[in-house]
Amino acid sequence: MTETTGTSKLIALFGPPGSGKGTQAEYLVRDYDLYHLSTGDLLRAEIKQGTPLGRQADEVIKSGALMPDAIIQGMIRNQVNSVLGEKAGILFDGFPRTAAQADFLDGLLAELGLAMKAVVFLAIDAEKLIDRLTGRRTCRNCGAVYHVKSSPSRREEVCDKCGGPLYQRPDDNRDSIAERLAAYERQTYPVLQAYENKGLLVRVDGDQSREAVYRDIAGALDRILAIPGRD
Ligand code: AMP
Repeated sequence: MTETTGTSKLIALFGPPGSGKGTQAEYLVRDYDLYHLSTGDLLRAEIKQGTPLGRQADEVIKSGALMPDAIIQGMIRNQVNSVLGEKAGILFDGFPRTAAQADFLDGLLAELGLAMKAVVFLAIDAEKLIDRLTGRRTCRNCGAVYHVKSSPSRREEVCDKCGGPLYQRPDDNRDSIAERLAAYERQTYPVLQAYENKGLLVRVDGDQSREAVYRDIAGALDRILAIPGRD
């Protein structure tokens, strides 16, 4: 099937919780004209609206476990269909997280005559992640992310960008973090392995400054997207 949508830069961003994925996603969508498709953000929006799905997601997210594949896949199908043609590409953030989700995505993209171009993985040690997550603060208004030690806001608990209140995500506590890291190890590493076998994986050292991490990602993506037939 030929691509008719113009939305061809399909990139997935992987990184365990606390790897700086949110920050890198912001830079990527800005510089590569991508639609940011974050399943975590979609679920948090449902929670905020108090929908039945949101009530289920609230429980599951607090526990640190994963939502059922069928629910996530339904959300992805709707989103992909509704954003095709809007931007030059899509950044999948937090998805696919299981082998079943990865198979589903392959099938969906094949139906649309599209294919994943690159899968970026932010690699970082578990001990570093725990420190990053327990200190993380997020703006309730605009979603900007801070860290109490490494990148604090100028005024405590107030966002530098929009003045909104900062909060700690309810799943950024030690129990949820341990469960989320275990879920990542158990369910998401095999997905990465499969992308590596397909030659799509771009592994970046996530334990550097955010600028250095982004330089590495952008350098690799520029090379990949410049390959004829892959842009
Ligand atoms: P994130 O913001 O990507 O860290 O996601 C927060 C939480 O949302 C996860 O810990 C899961 O409970 C849920 N979630 C997000 N994306 C997925 C997904 N692709 N599959 C299953 N659960 C997900």
